[in-house]
Amino acid sequence: MLCDFHLHTAFSGDSETPPERQIEKAVLLGMERICITDHHDYDVSSPIDFILDFPAYFEALSRLRDRFRGRIRIEVGVELGLQGHIKDYLDALVRSWPFDFVIGSSHFIDGIDPYLDRFYEGRTEKEALSRFFEVSLEMVRSLDCFDSYGHLDYVLRYAPSKNKGFRAAEYMDLIDPLLKTLIQKGRALECNTGGFRYLLGHPNPCEDILLRYRELGGELLTVGSDAHTPEYVGCEFKKTAEILRSCGFRYYTVYHARRPEMLPL
Ligand SMILES: [Zn+2]
Ligand SMILES: [Zn+2]
Repeated sequence: MLCDFHLHTAFSGDSETPPERQIEKAVLLGMERICITDHHDYDVSSPIDFILDFPAYFEALSRLRDRFRGRIRIEVGVELGLQGHIKDYLDALVRSWPFDFVIGSSHFIDGIDPYLDRFYEGRTEKEALSRFFEVSLEMVRSLDCFDSYGHLDYVLRYAPSKNKGFRAAEYMDLIDPLLKTLIQKGRALECNTGGFRYLLGHPNPCEDILLRYRELGGELLTVGSDAHTPEYVGCEFKKTAEILRSCGFRYYTVYHARRPEMLPL
């Protein structure tokens, strides 16, 4: 079983699952290693509080790491919401805490979550998607606080037609340079199996983007379920391993102390 490197717990504003329940599920699935990556979206306007209580988080997870020692290895990560205007804040944050792994994700575009209808108002769906990828590219170019770029086509989870009719090729003028920038900077692309949970029938990003990343020489690739509840830990990992192998990947990546390690798929 692949190691799940994108998991949320009650330390995230949008999960009520105690961390031990996510860990117990991973043990049950036979995982050898996981990374908890709770949300921290700083300076956003949202009804949900996405601010992580770092002292409590590190204390709780280091206790759990000890409690589960010998059964499963637990890494402590974070999923940071990327925004250009908080670059200095994010740089300082990742220097201040001993993270094993940092996911960088575009959750707010021009201050709006693509989860909201408001993101699509006053423009075509294609224009909204283009803006999403345009800002994503800016984030990957300008920010250096993360190890892996999260769920690259996240917008498809919420777009009015979801991924129906989506052609990655139509956005390659933005996606290609994003992938090339990740490779140049030595950062990973994330394969997030949450796409299956949102009934897209594929991980985020979709196969065409994973394939393109491999064609461009991309090797660093993390895998995570983005589970907020135990039922989705390791969601569709068997199918995902097959997809990744068919895209030409032989290895995937895990992190400890923010250093990558390659494991066979
Ligand atoms: Zn996310
Ligand atoms: Zn997440």
